Amino acid sequence: MALAVDAGTGLPPLSVRAFGRGLKKLVVLMTHYHHDHTQGITMAAHTFAGEEVTMFGPEDHGIGPKQVMERLMVEPLFPVNFEKLAHRFKCKPMKNIGTEVLIIHPTEGVHKIQVSEYNKAQAPGSNGRVCNGKCLLLECLVVLMYRTTHPEQTISYRFIEMPSGKTFVFLTDHESTAALPADLRSHVAGTDLLIADGQYAQKVYEERTAGFGHATPEYCALLAHRTGVKRLGITHHDPNASDEDVDARVAEAKAEAVRLGNQELADNTFGCACYQEIEI
Ligand SMILES: [Zn+2]
Ligand SMILES: [Zn+2]
Repeated sequence: MALAVDAGTGLPPLSVRAFGRGLKKLVVLMTHYHHDHTQGITMAAHTFAGEEVTMFGPEDHGIGPKQVMERLMVEPLFPVNFEKLAHRFKCKPMKNIGTEVLIIHPTEGVHKIQVSEYNKAQAPGSNGRVCNGKCLLLECLVVLMYRTTHPEQTISYRFIEMPSGKTFVFLTDHESTAALPADLRSHVAGTDLLIADGQYAQKVYEERTAGFGHATPEYCALLAHRTGVKRLGITHHDPNASDEDVDARVAEAKAEAVRLGNQELADNTFGCACYQEIEI
């Protein structure tokens, strides 16, 4: 099974590589459905030749992964209408972000359970099993969710690899908030790697782009500093940005970390590049 977050330009090469390794099942966790997060699905190898694509994503006002695929894959924008491929797509809408947890088991597949069941399985004296006893937490990849601040309903995913306990949070399409909400802080807390949306320079944000649903590098650094994040990657670069612009955003995040007295965070802050591979 290959796992992807969103279906942007990274998905087609990931899909080809997964096929090369014999991974025919693809699971895609959608943050939301703005074009910059969906277009790769129309070009991914799994869409045309795979055995099964399972797509999780938010559902808002009756629009979830299935309705979005129907709108993306429609003639003349796509060679066939979605209904011709629908038998290979499992679309799993998520309506209660923050109350559910995804449990990804190497052989039992992906299950959606309640946070209460997850918490119970972690309590002392529990046998650590979830999904009607099918999955032992210690063998799973656990995925927690947080609803970001964005014009559309958008999910940030926190991955916990068991049994190593290594964590990764993908927080994109999230706007700077005046304070750091407690549930956001616990979602990000102590993570080994945080990839966060730092699209806009502070001045641009204040003058033109507040309310667009994206954050500043300074906000990313503050959040990472306050929550004990170990490594911070700045992403969701502005489509009109040059390499120098991206370098400037990363420098702003580093400068903020230094200003906060966190040299270690500054040293471990970087700009995300296309097709970059990061070991956690
Ligand atoms: Zn968006
Ligand atoms: Zn976006």
